[in-house]
Amino acid sequence: MYLKSINHFLSLLHPFTISNNSRTSTPIVQIEVVNEEGIIGYGESSLPPYLNESQESVSGFLNGLDLSGFRSADGLDMVLDYVMNRAEGNYFAKAGLDIALHDLFGKINKVPVWKMLGSDPSTMPPTSFTLGMASEEVLEQKVKESDRFSILKVKLGGDDDKAIINTIRRFSSKPIYVDANQGWKEPGYALEMISWLEDQGVVLIEQPLAKGMREEQAWLFARSPLPLIADESCQRLEDIPDLVGLFSGINIKLMKCGGLREARKMISLSRDLGLKIMIGCMNESSCAILAAASLAPFCDYVDLDGPFLINNNPFLDPEIREGKILLPDRPGLGLIPIYHSES
Ligand code: MG
Repeated sequence: MYLKSINHFLSLLHPFTISNNSRTSTPIVQIEVVNEEGIIGYGESSLPPYLNESQESVSGFLNGLDLSGFRSADGLDMVLDYVMNRAEGNYFAKAGLDIALHDLFGKINKVPVWKMLGSDPSTMPPTSFTLGMASEEVLEQKVKESDRFSILKVKLGGDDDKAIINTIRRFSSKPIYVDANQGWKEPGYALEMISWLEDQGVVLIEQPLAKGMREEQAWLFARSPLPLIADESCQRLEDIPDLVGLFSGINIKLMKCGGLREARKMISLSRDLGLKIMIGCMNESSCAILAAASLAPFCDYVDLDGPFLINNNPFLDPEIREGKILLPDRPGLGLIPIYHSES
């Protein structure tokens, strides 16, 4: 088998603003792994600019791989072992390849990836839909765009958090997940905000404090009336044990951890430790989102809205039913490529 990759940008429906950063597009690398019969597995590395991997670093990692010795008969795990052990780090690149290989081997074996992973679609939680910080007019528009979703996710951590929630509450009474993106500087203030947010129908808080603030986080966790979910504080499997006593749960993202195989291990360790699990995403197309969705039935909270926040998804959007991502009953990830006139 061999792989090819192309650099691309996902263009955002609305400029995406969180507490420390704003942008209108996100660089990605689209990956294809092709087997000896010409079957293509699709993968994707999404590379938000504030992280330490880039299109260049992903290409560098991919160029150092040689898949020509592998054949379909070797099986998924053997190829994944080679990819994962090739170099340290490079988790976003590894995630893209892990996704492509799962898609490929699902297609080779004519089975959906979610079935390969043992997921039961009947336990799929609804996905939240993210509203970035914006003016009142834009927020009203975004709330309308969120019609099909039963949970809203709101990025806070700035100076006008209450005003943002008050504005959203003028247009919607849906439950809200709040992501502070490490934006609250002080635990007492965070606790005050969380108590206020609980009264506004907020049901969980993601990453209230900076990831280094372990003592403050423990203090807050002991007092918080709402579940606290670690995102920036939790990248990979080895981070999880230290989060017991600091957070109620973790946000798993394929890009952070290196793909589906690692994410599965994170899910079972979190369960063993009594932690809740959210599965989340970067700005991603249907490709990485349907990969993550294939593990979502194992999770408590789902935040997989990537394809619904862009206007040049290279694949058909996932179907949403009753606010939940529908897992396609097609081999692999079940992706259907579409072509845009300009790229
Ligand atoms: Mg987050």
